[in-house]
Amino acid sequence: MESLIRPEVRALSAYHVADAVGYVKLDAMENPYTWPEAMTAEWLERLRSLPLNRYPDPSPAGLKTLLRDSNGVPPGMDLLLGNGSDEIIQMLLMAVAGPGVKVLAPEPTFVMYRQIASTLGLEFVGVPLAADFSMDMPAMAAAIAEHKPALVFLAYPNNPTGNLFERADVEAIVALTPGLVVVDEAYAPFAEASFMEDLPRHGNLLVMRTLSKLGLAGLRLGFLAGPPSWLHELDKVRMPYNINVLTQATVEFALERLPVFEEQTALLRQERAALFQALQSMPGITPFPSRANFILFRCEGVAAGDVFDGIKRGGVLIKNSSSAGGALSGCLRVTVGKPEENRRFISALEQAISGR
Ligand code: PMP
Repeated sequence: MESLIRPEVRALSAYHVADAVGYVKLDAMENPYTWPEAMTAEWLERLRSLPLNRYPDPSPAGLKTLLRDSNGVPPGMDLLLGNGSDEIIQMLLMAVAGPGVKVLAPEPTFVMYRQIASTLGLEFVGVPLAADFSMDMPAMAAAIAEHKPALVFLAYPNNPTGNLFERADVEAIVALTPGLVVVDEAYAPFAEASFMEDLPRHGNLLVMRTLSKLGLAGLRLGFLAGPPSWLHELDKVRMPYNINVLTQATVEFALERLPVFEEQTALLRQERAALFQALQSMPGITPFPSRANFILFRCEGVAAGDVFDGIKRGGVLIKNSSSAGGALSGCLRVTVGKPEENRRFISALEQAISGR
């Protein structure tokens, strides 16, 4: 095995997905709401006529138009579709990979940037965020000048910290970077801020989004918006049939009914405010302001791992971000759920910190 599997792959651990069976599931930033009965019935009717014996449309124009319209993609910009935005991260990195090529991101951030870069033998430069998780601009500027990254990833809002970086900081990074800057707007439905409109003004900016957090995580569809010349090159590393027939048809169906999802995400934004207040009022718990559908909080005076275990014993699964260490020491991350799920979480947390 040692002689066949590359050392950088052997050094990794696989992305961990916890077994959530039987738990209130608040660990993975999913939308907890399902569809009205009548909508599900209509959807099943639409699926009935799908040609599953045929390969999918390699470049679905109707779906792309719906994505452009529902996401405000500026005229003149193109779209590249991925099997989740995870696959787009992989395509971007595959397209630039080569000896001595570097990729940079502030950290802590979404772990797949580093993980996929490592599997491809790219050098990943992580630049620590400031203590309040804002961008450390002197450090970023110095790292960009030193390493001349081919790609910079900025999650906006950031995962797992939940904050939006200052717009001026992102703009400065775009100006300083010799390579491409990918602004990852996975949490766009909750952020009320975006760089989508800025695309035509920068030749090296790309904006990535996903339908996962809107409520379609099971379908696996992400997309990259940007100048056609860049996307034309990136399209060459895409597998021809990467978006399956069921996903294409179902996303079209869903985007034709966008208000259903907008209503759900508006509810979650309201619940985020209520959950933040509840966390803020708890002794020993410090939540960080979030523009996403999750909240990171720090536990003081009690080990985060014990709090995580206690919450789990209370029947609620969240994410133990503390195990990453560093700036995330003592931190746990909870996804915003339905009101009753959030209440279950708060009561499990209360019990966990009071040690009952
Ligand atoms: N980017 C960020 C910042 C994320 O947090 C996630 C999911 N946790 C993704 C991308 C990947 O999303 P997906 O592959 O479901 O589109």
